[in-house]
Amino acid sequence: MGIHDAPITIEEIEKNIVETAFSEGYVKPQIEIPRTHKKVAVVGSGPSGLAAADQLNKMGYRVSVFERDSEAGGLLRFGIPDFKLDKKIVQRRINLMKEEGVIFKPGIEVGVDYSVEELERNFDAIILALGCTVPRDLPIPNRDAKGVYFAMEFLKQSNKRVSGIPYSEDKIYVEDKKVLIIGGSYTGSDCIGTSNRQGARQILQIEIMPMPPKQRDETMPWPIFPMILKTTSSHQEGCERKWMINCKEFLKDDKGNLKGVKATEVEWMRGPVTKRYTSFVEKPDSEFIIDCDVAFLAMGFLHVQHTGLVESLDIQLNPRLNLIGNELEYRTNKEKIFACGDARRGQSLVVWAISEGRRCAEQVDAYLQKI
Ligand SMILES: Cc1cc2nc3c(=O)[nH]c(=O)nc-3n(C[C@H](O)[C@H](O)[C@H](O)COP(=O)(O)OP(=O)(O)OC[C@H]3O[C@@H](n4cnc5c(N)ncnc54)[C@H](O)[C@@H]3O)c2cc1C
Repeated sequence: MGIHDAPITIEEIEKNIVETAFSEGYVKPQIEIPRTHKKVAVVGSGPSGLAAADQLNKMGYRVSVFERDSEAGGLLRFGIPDFKLDKKIVQRRINLMKEEGVIFKPGIEVGVDYSVEELERNFDAIILALGCTVPRDLPIPNRDAKGVYFAMEFLKQSNKRVSGIPYSEDKIYVEDKKVLIIGGSYTGSDCIGTSNRQGARQILQIEIMPMPPKQRDETMPWPIFPMILKTTSSHQEGCERKWMINCKEFLKDDKGNLKGVKATEVEWMRGPVTKRYTSFVEKPDSEFIIDCDVAFLAMGFLHVQHTGLVESLDIQLNPRLNLIGNELEYRTNKEKIFACGDARRGQSLVVWAISEGRRCAEQVDAYLQKI
């Protein structure tokens, strides 16, 4: 099967093809599209919403994309930093979609600025591409210390600053600060890259799980997704990493500012059958203090936001508290309402979001052809 051969740089090859297509002028807006009178609302303009909108527009539907942020793109725009994804690439695609007839409505939170009654009245089908935006918190003592933020608060603001977009929140800037990143995820890695660019004095990333193996072991034979150690370019740019650390308490000074974290080392036990890590105990006498001015919580995302739109529309949730949406049909429990992307499958990847958006669009088309 050739699976042990040296990897091919597929990413670079694909990027090169696309960039050549744009620079040579092969990518042109398809404007002459035969139109139906049927209208589709896509709520959320991340990769899943954009993919669904693009496909339905090309099928001839009249598509409006609602976005509560000031610009379209979802996490492509305000999550992933510029050093990983140049925003010109996102904007180039959105401009193309606009020229092709997709109507973008940024700055509108559906369920707040635009009522669900209007939404249901004005559109023949509705796609909820809301993302998986509720972050996992760390409810330990002194969580309210000034300087403890969710990773996305930091990354979103930094993305806005880099693009010259105004923001109203208190400034989070880590120049000359001692930064602690709690969580070993990609989001944590993006916090490292951003902190380095802002001139942080010291960066430590900690993770409660053990350090993953550098290669597949018996718990993850091919083709299971390999949970192996990932060292990104952000890690290589400079930071310290520690595993098997459990945070016990944030420490604050008399003004309420974060000054450290009380932590312990832990030991993990594996389950007898799966051989996966199932539980941990704290190592005796291992308590120590991490000195830091800022802590970013990068421990993953729980589920789609329930308050507002999802509750108002009375959409059923699956056991992981994301939007129900049959794998084949992407349809929710409500007539003419569909769901796709992270809001349906949980926190995932851009490629999955695009694939979901496209497959959801096919199902919306099949539904609209019947009514
Ligand atoms: C920091 C970070 C870095 C990542 N890096 C990578 C990476 O390198 N590679 C990769 O493959 N994946 C990465 N991911 C994951 C990837 O970004 C997501 O899987 C993907 O963006 C999900 O797409 P989506 O369209 O489902 O949702 P999102 O991109 O989350 O978009 C949802 C959109 O819906 C909008 N919205 C929600 N509710 C409403 C409402 N009521 N009205 C109007 N708008 C609403 C939100 O504002 C948001 O813009 C990263 C994620 C994060 C957080």
